[in-house]
Amino acid sequence: MFGAIEAGGTKFVCAVGDKGGTIIDRIKIPTTVPEETMTEVFAFFKKYELDAIGIGSFGPIDVNPESPTYGMITSTPKLAWRNFPFVQALQDAFSVPIGFNTDVNAAALGEAVYGAAKGLDSCLYITVGTGIGAGAVVQGRLLQGLSHPEMGHILVRRHPNDEYQGKCPYHGDCLEGLAAGPAIEERWGHKGFELVERLEVWDVEGYYIAQALMQYILILSPKRIILGGGVMNQKQVFSSIYKYLPELVQGYVSLPDLREYIVSPGLGDDAGITGSLLLAQQAFNGE
Ligand code: ADP
Ligand code: ZN
Repeated sequence: MFGAIEAGGTKFVCAVGDKGGTIIDRIKIPTTVPEETMTEVFAFFKKYELDAIGIGSFGPIDVNPESPTYGMITSTPKLAWRNFPFVQALQDAFSVPIGFNTDVNAAALGEAVYGAAKGLDSCLYITVGTGIGAGAVVQGRLLQGLSHPEMGHILVRRHPNDEYQGKCPYHGDCLEGLAAGPAIEERWGHKGFELVERLEVWDVEGYYIAQALMQYILILSPKRIILGGGVMNQKQVFSSIYKYLPELVQGYVSLPDLREYIVSPGLGDDAGITGSLLLAQQAFNGE
């Protein structure tokens, strides 16, 4: 039996599942401070005999096993969680192997094994929500270098009609600063779901995401691209991406049918937790 944690900025999802990725039990816990949230996490897992635990966490996190701060959440704006030794805390409580990666890498893994990229050895999973982040499976493995990728903070060209200054505390008008949920809200003065009828909102949104996808495609050449997160509930954004991406790429690389290439998560909201279960399995197998 494996344990899984999808650690998000507003809530934690914990689950217990089997080798086949079937979830047997799950719980949602609000993300407050580590002392509180982790007490509930421990209580949930104590009911089971676990072989390993996988964590897909909000970040940035330290995923380099050679680093002295491996397994910690690092420079998060959520101050109570800064420098929280996530892996150590679970190892102390359960003495089992712990898999640790980003929430989006976990989701990419879940989608590659059981979801919209099942059977493919490469995919990209992007979330457009409170922030923008992406995880990549490349040649069957999660992409990792010095640290995990941070694809949400790339620079994009301005939409000619967009004068919004951007919301990223580090870069202002990077992709996340221009296109994550809070940027949409601040630029247009309403919550995303209140802007459904405003076509220009989703046109601009798709313009920025299409640019990002072009860069990811040129650099990684993923076999499928999966777009999740709250903002992608607005299906018009997909239409806008399908319109802009070919205009940007200009036929330089040939792309598959975009409606099959750029899709919603096959696992819906369960991509992250299912992927975290797979991280547990990988940790158990010593991968
Ligand atoms: P998180 O990124 O915190 O895990 P979500 O993926 O749900 O959570 O993203 C939340 C963001 O998505 C918010 O900025 C919210 O305004 C936006 N959002 C959620 N639902 C919708 C929707 N139906 N239409 C447009 N924007 C939405
Ligand atoms: Zn940024």
